[in-house]
Amino acid sequence: MVSSPEPELDVIIAGASLAGSTAAHLLGAAGFRVLLLEKASFPRPKICGEGLMPSGVRLLHQAGMLEAGNPGGVPFKGIRLIAGGLPALSLGFNHLRAHDYGLVVDRLKLDAQMAARAARCPNVTLLERSAVKFVDFGETAVEVLADVKGVRQGFRARVLLGADGIRSEVRRLAGVPICRPRRKRFALRALGRPRQDDFETVEVYFTSRGEAYVAPRRGGRVTISLLIDGTAAGALRGGARSSFEAALELFPELRSRVALPRGSDTFEATAPLSLMTDRAHGNRLLLIGDAAGAVDPITGQGMTLALRDACLALAVLKPRIPRDRLLAGELSEFTRKRNKYFSSAWRFAERLLDLFENPAAARKAVLALRRRPALQERLAEALALGRPELLGWYGRARMLAGAPVSIWMKKAAKPSSRSCSFCRSRVPSRG
Ligand SMILES: Cc1cc2nc3c(=O)[nH]c(=O)nc-3n(C[C@H](O)[C@H](O)[C@H](O)COP(=O)(O)OP(=O)(O)OC[C@H]3O[C@@H](n4cnc5c(N)ncnc54)[C@H](O)[C@@H]3O)c2cc1C
Repeated sequence: MVSSPEPELDVIIAGASLAGSTAAHLLGAAGFRVLLLEKASFPRPKICGEGLMPSGVRLLHQAGMLEAGNPGGVPFKGIRLIAGGLPALSLGFNHLRAHDYGLVVDRLKLDAQMAARAARCPNVTLLERSAVKFVDFGETAVEVLADVKGVRQGFRARVLLGADGIRSEVRRLAGVPICRPRRKRFALRALGRPRQDDFETVEVYFTSRGEAYVAPRRGGRVTISLLIDGTAAGALRGGARSSFEAALELFPELRSRVALPRGSDTFEATAPLSLMTDRAHGNRLLLIGDAAGAVDPITGQGMTLALRDACLALAVLKPRIPRDRLLAGELSEFTRKRNKYFSSAWRFAERLLDLFENPAAARKAVLALRRRPALQERLAEALALGRPELLGWYGRARMLAGAPVSIWMKKAAKPSSRSCSFCRSRVPSRG
């Protein structure tokens, strides 16, 4: 371990996916010396529904992570919902600004492209096959030990960003408590092909056991993600392919429209799908993206939140790094500001999960939406811009009309010293 008093780096970032690469690019462009450590080597697989909402596309452009005019994915201008045994309902983004669109991204390509984009910045060094193994948060610097291509190496910086995903090692090493949601869900994913008609936009199928997401890709293929209630361990005994085929039977309208590939290499599974942390900062530490807490993918906000976190990290760190104001008290602003958008996205996802678990309530909600084009527009806008508050009190009331009283009575939990900020009743566990 290097022992010079002045750290040779300003920032070390663990994880070069959406959150980490964007933060590295922004901090590097602001003149800070950044080391970006990534456990895998690109291109590497990442299980994701791959639907980036319009607000996320905007953020990618603003952060300079996509070359203008070359978004490298399949744009979509709305979502089709299939629920309650009713005909499909289209939620269009047409009333948004003309250039607002969602993007079906290929994570294999996008993540590699973003890491390469960050590494092109003169102040950023990217090391692949480099996993963070140990951290020590000192008075004057944070020391990080990483396995760099099989060789243990030490690095010192002013601040560490944990951008290493939902199973964050940095979060565990820093001892940040986590809180797992009461609902157990897992995801299965495969690449398929439409049997006859093409999928023109992102489609979401709801049942009381879970949802199916279909996103059209380039080359005529579709990404199919199934988010199912239960624990993956039990369901996956027969392997990802047979679990996928069994779960697809829950969605007969979709089953008849897609053909699955012969081999089993494009079938993948993952859990958990969501997680909360009590705080996203510490002494010389910020957690960003899924490492700081992940919202259930039901509303397709995960990638957008990861990008928002990277932008917020820049805003919080830019004035503090030069003055070395990086202890927990100084960085608490990050958690405070992040909680505002994260908790509203979390509650939105939880309400939708509550709603679709109850088939009668889901049917009423879809009927309410069908009758009210203005409500459809508001829901589309809330999803597209990642701002559930746009649905408004009246909109939520309309959608939830007929839902069980338990959904109505749930209040936003207030922070408490004994538990995490989102779910007072649940006991936080160590990461
Ligand atoms: C089934 C499913 C469907 C989803 N669908 C959507 C969707 O349609 N739209 C959407 O917006 N979001 C979706 N999401 C959420 C989205 O995938 C995540 O929110 C997003 O990938 C988070 O990005 P991240 O950069 O925080 O972390 P990740 O993308 O998880 O990346 C973490 C990185 O850290 C690296 N790493 C891990 N450990 C270490 C270590 N010790 N040292 C160094 N590097 C390390 C990993 O290799 C990885 O590259 C979905 C998620 C799931 C599970």
